[in-house]
Amino acid sequence: MRKEFLIFAQDKISARHRIEQVVDWEVIFWEINMKRCRNTKIVATIGPSSNSPEIIEKLYLGGVDVFRLNFSHGDHAGHEKIYDIIRSVGRRHHSSPTILADLQGPKLRVGTFENNKVILEEGDIFRFDLDKTPGDTKRVNLPHPEILEALEVGTSLLLDDGKLRFEVLSCSPEHAEVKVVVGGQLSNRKGVNVPQVMLPIPALTEKDRKDLDFALKLGVDWVALSFVQNPEDVEEAHSIIKGKAKVLSKIEKPLAVRAIEPITKISDGIMVARGDLGVEMNPEEVPAAQRLIINTCHRMGKPVIVATQMLESMITSPSPTRAEVSDVANAVYCGADATMLSAESASGQYPLEAVHMMSRIIEVTEEDPSCVRRIEDNAQCPHQTALDAKCKAAKSAAMYSNASCIVMFSDSFDHVACCSRFRPTCPIILGTSSDQLARQAGLLCGVYSLVMKKEFNLDKLCKIATTTAIDRKFAKIGDSIVVLNDFDGDSVNILKI
Ligand code: PGA
Ligand code: MN
Repeated sequence: MRKEFLIFAQDKISARHRIEQVVDWEVIFWEINMKRCRNTKIVATIGPSSNSPEIIEKLYLGGVDVFRLNFSHGDHAGHEKIYDIIRSVGRRHHSSPTILADLQGPKLRVGTFENNKVILEEGDIFRFDLDKTPGDTKRVNLPHPEILEALEVGTSLLLDDGKLRFEVLSCSPEHAEVKVVVGGQLSNRKGVNVPQVMLPIPALTEKDRKDLDFALKLGVDWVALSFVQNPEDVEEAHSIIKGKAKVLSKIEKPLAVRAIEPITKISDGIMVARGDLGVEMNPEEVPAAQRLIINTCHRMGKPVIVATQMLESMITSPSPTRAEVSDVANAVYCGADATMLSAESASGQYPLEAVHMMSRIIEVTEEDPSCVRRIEDNAQCPHQTALDAKCKAAKSAAMYSNASCIVMFSDSFDHVACCSRFRPTCPIILGTSSDQLARQAGLLCGVYSLVMKKEFNLDKLCKIATTTAIDRKFAKIGDSIVVLNDFDGDSVNILKI
């Protein structure tokens, strides 16, 4: 059946309207997100500082829209406990917040040292090899033969989040001899980054596959892939996930920035993973990469999260630096769907304060009239499809009729994402018959979802839209709302204002 749209600007909701419509109310089963006073969403990582039912509930009420389970830390039992707490907190509030499982990916690490650590000086010659015996000041184990094979003379190796830098002098499939360019202390199992080289390693390690299987059984809504290098990595994940969750690609390698178009195309969403990206490329190049990634996502209608160090100082301080506040605001100005907290909410001393602060920064920034213009500039129309035309028209209808909200009835993630990508200034209420879609859409800028019985009668849909908007306090009597119908049906495409 062909999908048809109806765009309808519901003029002036009257009091009579409201009373007539109460009968339709039972079609709504439940709401999915908390209603917020902002469109940009907040993703918060749960960890030791926040894994209790009390704190998770406070975080949810305080502004968290998407909870992130970080599979780089913790075990399955711990993640399952957090998952259950989030779902039960949701049920208590008659909702179901979005849950994102973040897989560790191929994080490369050196082996161990005889004395747990060594100090390396600039100009020293050092060696990586496949020998598992503990290392010393001359050599250490690098238990990844595929990396050794991919190295070339002149390749840079970065260790411990880029604190140490080595250059390859000679190499074979069994070893690499390197010169220390930036020295320092190197201790057991520190991370290794190889920025310039496409590593012949799959995006999903053995551990990732087990974690993924577990996360899908739990019922997570989104899965994030770390260290994506090319579109094939994402394709492979799709072939395992088979639509059970949406797939988010973390852009944390310069190679992935260069392949941003094809990677975004095949992903359901993108994360600007500035932590590792800032190690793999010069930190001063990260802001430009962030803007490029965000703009690409806008064009392709995919949600984008800006992540890492957003309120970093709040790990140990109850208030952020001015620069951090500005960073969150800038992500909003550039049109991110969501901003993320990592250690701030997972292991910091002030998880709640960090969420409150992030929420306030977003609210105030979105009130700035210039914020609206900027987002519109970026969300240009590239596809020239009927869908884009309708979503853009809905945005214009909402803007020119000063509507309080857009109500969209749809069972398609891509269609809701398309509507969201134009960044209407008013919220989008998504009415959908799919629980899963309702939760997945929780990551989209401005989208608030409700699960409802599928309804085809247009008059009824408009009534449901009006009642919902008023009951959920998105609109009041006298306001205009815009209705966009994407449920299968024989409705024609009409724009009525
Ligand atoms: P991570 O990813 O926190 O899992 O490393 C985010 C980043 O690298 O910025
Ligand atoms: Mn990372």
